[in-house]
Amino acid sequence: MERILNYIGGSLVPPRSGRFLDNVNPATGQVYSHIPDSDASDVAEAVAAAQQAFPDWAAAVPEVRFRILNRIADLIEADLESFALAESNDNGKPLSVARSVDIPRAVSNFRFFATAAMQFASEAHPMPGQAVNYTLRQPLGTVGCISPWNLPLYLFTWKIAPALAAGNCVVGKPSELTPMTAFLLAKVCIEAGLPAGVLNIVHGLGPSAGQAIVEHPSVKAISFTGGTATGRHIAATAAPMFKKLSLELGGKNPSIVFADCDFEQAVSTAARSAFSNNGQICLCGSRIYVQKPIYEQFRDELVRRVSALRTGDPLAADSDLGALVSRSHWEKVQGYLALAKEEGGRILCGGELIRPEGRCSEGFFLSPAIIEGLDAQCRTNQEEIFGPVVTIQAFETEEEVLQWANGTDYGLAANVWTQDLSRAHRVAERLQMGIVWINCWMLRDLRTPFGGVKHSGIGREGGWEAIRFFTEPKNVCVKYGK
Ligand code: NDP
Repeated sequence: MERILNYIGGSLVPPRSGRFLDNVNPATGQVYSHIPDSDASDVAEAVAAAQQAFPDWAAAVPEVRFRILNRIADLIEADLESFALAESNDNGKPLSVARSVDIPRAVSNFRFFATAAMQFASEAHPMPGQAVNYTLRQPLGTVGCISPWNLPLYLFTWKIAPALAAGNCVVGKPSELTPMTAFLLAKVCIEAGLPAGVLNIVHGLGPSAGQAIVEHPSVKAISFTGGTATGRHIAATAAPMFKKLSLELGGKNPSIVFADCDFEQAVSTAARSAFSNNGQICLCGSRIYVQKPIYEQFRDELVRRVSALRTGDPLAADSDLGALVSRSHWEKVQGYLALAKEEGGRILCGGELIRPEGRCSEGFFLSPAIIEGLDAQCRTNQEEIFGPVVTIQAFETEEEVLQWANGTDYGLAANVWTQDLSRAHRVAERLQMGIVWINCWMLRDLRTPFGGVKHSGIGREGGWEAIRFFTEPKNVCVKYGK
């Protein structure tokens, strides 16, 4: 059985303890590889390798970083099929989705930040006749990048690429549930000629390997994407050490459909937004609010389309949805279905355990569920489920829906459907979210800031925000006047 290895100091190495964990394919329920159960000693080795590599990498001219990051992008693209299969086997998502969304986006992340390395410039602030200030933005040193399981390579590279482009060295940890693409990435980095120690990937559990990265005194910043509870714990650990923190956390995103929307676009995108990757995307719209005049028509059409989605073997070309990521997550989502019923919700479609025939008969499958009849305050509408379970509710006024939309602890993203330009801007301004999509969803320009407010996190990723995060500004004031 394949053994995944850590990537430390330019080499693929086993964990120092010799311990490995099982890696389960959620579509089959079977162990299909083993991953290092790394601990603080592996992290210490990785940090030492990063510290050693840092002076040369930080001093490299931008073109060096550009060339290597671009080469990494090319090599992932050239082997897209292996990466997509690894992602599907780890995560349970359809191979077609990994092939068309996740892996191409990881390629784009490296390309985008490769060119950013070439374009990044410092600011200057002249004080006429007296002095000139310029801001040196210097890399921080060794930084930690910790990513979740839902978009494994996409989110891992979204952190690593800007950190490297800005001249830092990285100790990264992917989720232990989805380690395989990070292992393939390590091999690609070796082939691309990334100098030893510039990127180190330590596999293992959050409370051991992840925690050791956060606690290590030489790690200057933590870029973390994951759950809000984990983010809170990481913040509490890192804050007394004055580390820079970027936390991209959970969401409970509203899809808001006004009666004057383009019906076809709104209903097809609401379905996509709710159930892409089985609802396991932080940006998925999980509370669908529809204005009264079109509520019934919209609900019935949405139910019709969602009932037609095919859940099954991720490797089958006709599967729209695959398995949930793990047994424990599958059980957690089922728990929320039970809660929704207890709270008085009516299941309009889905919510059934599915046992495909053949190799996937032991997999973690659940058909996509839409629930009606719950109020905005109930737990089902307040807590992040992160699965194929969404609610739908009718609203009357703009004011009412804004209250519901803003009425959770989260503030990551919203999508709004209306043809009224003034309303679109008005609602966007009042939504307490880091991202608002008007008449679209998941349309991303990598230059724009990305992230949430309230319990959805602090800091922003994307574009210059990411490069800025991974640099420390130093102002130099040069007096030339008398
Ligand atoms: P977790 O918070 O459980 O884990 C995220 C990562 O942190 C994993 O690599 C995990 O390791 C690691 N980790 C766990 N405990 C610690 C610790 N004490 N110190 C350091 N690292 C630790 O999240 P999930 O993997 O379950 O991902 C789902 C969550 O991610 C959802 O809440 C979702 O909303 C959020 N998310 C947010 C996004 C955003 O941009 N705002 C985007 C995508 C997802 P291990 O897996 O081994 O436990």
